Amino acid sequence: MRAVLSSGSNMGDARAHLRAVVDEFVGEVVAKSSLYATAPWGKTDQPDFLNQSLIVEVDQTPRELLARCQRLEEEADRVRVERWGPRTLDVDIVFIDGYTSDDPELTVPHPRAHLRQFVLEPWLEMDPTAELNGSSIRELLDGLEDQGVRKL
Ligand code: ATP
Ligand code: CA
Ligand code: CA
Repeated sequence: MRAVLSSGSNMGDARAHLRAVVDEFVGEVVAKSSLYATAPWGKTDQPDFLNQSLIVEVDQTPRELLARCQRLEEEADRVRVERWGPRTLDVDIVFIDGYTSDDPELTVPHPRAHLRQFVLEPWLEMDPTAELNGSSIRELLDGLEDQGVRKL
């Protein structure tokens, strides 16, 4: 199964938190984006985020992949305080090839992916031909206001 993952951190050693995700999937990484510095989305009075995306090829079910992402968050000592608030590590499943789900526990494609420059920019970098909900990633990006996402 092939999946697009989006990681973000804005607490502690953000680079180290993102590196831990890459290390977890070593041997399963199909593509890795650059790091992006990103203005916070949804809740703006918090430090900028560092974001990175991966395309991974895993021999797992979607649920198993979600559990793996959540274990990485726990290992980064993530504490859930408020929605969209600061966090050591967030790892979301953005997209899974040939799979959709509207279960709140695992919604795929991620329901806000098409609104987020910090998800679409790294995805476009990794896969210029990718499509989401019937639109190219390029088209989706062109339809968004600039959200302050800077490739490092
Ligand atoms: P957002 O979903 O807007 O990016 P968030 O990442 O801050 O917000 P979390 O608190 O990390 O939200 O996750 C809340 C719940 O979302 C998780 O418990 C998880 O079960 C669920 N969830 C649903 N779809 C997905 C997905 N595609 N990837 C990761 N988690 C998901
Ligand atoms: Ca998220
Ligand atoms: Ca999340």
